[in-house]
Amino acid sequence: HDALRTWLDTRFPLPLPRADRSRLLVLAGPTAVGKGTVAAHIRENHPEIHLSVSATTRAPRPGEQNGVHYYFVDDAEFDRMIAEGELLEHATVHNKFRYGTPRGPIEEALADGRTVLLEIDLQGARQVRAADPSANLVFLLPPSWDELVNRLVGRGTEDAEERARRLRTAKVELASQSEFDHRVVNEDVATAAREVVELTSDSAR
Ligand code: 5GP
Repeated sequence: HDALRTWLDTRFPLPLPRADRSRLLVLAGPTAVGKGTVAAHIRENHPEIHLSVSATTRAPRPGEQNGVHYYFVDDAEFDRMIAEGELLEHATVHNKFRYGTPRGPIEEALADGRTVLLEIDLQGARQVRAADPSANLVFLLPPSWDELVNRLVGRGTEDAEERARRLRTAKVELASQSEFDHRVVNEDVATAAREVVELTSDSAR
């Protein structure tokens, strides 16, 4: 990956590393890059890391449990959470459903000295940055553009029109990676997860 990394560093220079980064880690990246898979891997293998559970207005998929994968709420409850200031950030994703990060559990985990991981979209990552400039923003990259297209087609959850729309969004999202503090290439899930976890070690902060 050395050539890729050199090219990326030239094309999308990252902000200078900062000494005052907190233990709040935000994992974002373009559609279909595998954020959810990397987060699931970390959930299973790193119980020491607190993985934030988002609220969402979308319906559960088979196998998804309320309180584990998401808090599944209706629009009225989502509105209430916003009004009460319970969400650190919230956004409508893919023009469809609303997603938001509950603030309370994160603040508790950080106060306990734990590392907190948020797997959210780019709009959310920007809001977290604005709310807490010391947050660590990690951008997950596909090994190549072709691989991103393959993954989106391969998972077969979107029709052709929706895929085309998400790929247009992905192009725009890829251009935003210079706003991030770290970049991780998701060639293989276990390696990417390890790289994300290593960012939380004290030597990397
Ligand atoms: P899915 O519905 O496939 O689980 O997630 C769709 C998208 O919503 C993913 O890109 C995921 O990163 C994003 N997402 C999940 N939770 C949150 C959240 O709390 N806030 C924001 N802004 N995006 C989220």
